[in-house]
Amino acid sequence: MSTLGWLRSVMRLVEPRAVASSVRAATGPPAGVAGLDPITAPADPEVIAAAIIRARQSGADAESRLLWGRFAYRAAVRRWGLLHPVSVRAGSVYQRVLTEQALTFDAVRVCEQRLAADEESGDPRTALASRCRFAVALHRDGQCDLADEQIVGVLRRWHASPQGYGQAEMVLLAAAGVYAGCGRTGQAVQALTRDGAYLAQMDARCRRLAARWLASVVRTHPRWCTQPHNPGGQDRGGDSGNWLAVLDRCTATPRGAGQTAGVARRGGV
Ligand SMILES: [Zn+2]
Repeated sequence: MSTLGWLRSVMRLVEPRAVASSVRAATGPPAGVAGLDPITAPADPEVIAAAIIRARQSGADAESRLLWGRFAYRAAVRRWGLLHPVSVRAGSVYQRVLTEQALTFDAVRVCEQRLAADEESGDPRTALASRCRFAVALHRDGQCDLADEQIVGVLRRWHASPQGYGQAEMVLLAAAGVYAGCGRTGQAVQALTRDGAYLAQMDARCRRLAARWLASVVRTHPRWCTQPHNPGGQDRGGDSGNWLAVLDRCTATPRGAGQTAGVARRGGV
């Protein structure tokens, strides 16, 4: 998944209306599921495809979206396994619907199942991306200690990997998001700037969306978060302009300057 695609998916988890969807706010079910019950519908490919569309229809009622999203995910996994592209798509849509409806604990379970399958597949690059998604889902559910554990593991694997498996942007932004949401603004800035050279390829569109996502994570993080907060961190971290300034500085970081103490001190949120 591209960085822009990943950012859009995580942005939808915090602000569902903030990212344009290809599925309009339609209310009527697509033909493939019309007249069917999501509890008893057959797990046929065309029904699964229509169920995914139904779950994405922002204008449909919440229960219908949830039930068809669950149907699509379970039926696809039963039919093709967790790592089939249709199952991955269904899992992503189902996770989004669950999160929109504040069923974030169930959204974590979807991510956990995907991570287990990705780990089993033996592809470290895919598994690293999956662990980032799992950490973000845990964080969204307010399981901040566990999210932090996952991010520590992600960063350790990434630093030990050749060329960071090419997942630098996702890894560093996920780490920054987890830290920032918990009010650890300085640590979030450091996560971005310490290895800022790896973010140099992010274009302006990605940087703007990343900045909006980081600010939105801070503003919408569960209030029951128990992590120790930096004084004033929440206020400063809720402004996307501050994050954009940090990311803009990262793009100006020359290759080879990452992981240096000098870079680590540039943060200004
Ligand atoms: Zn937290």
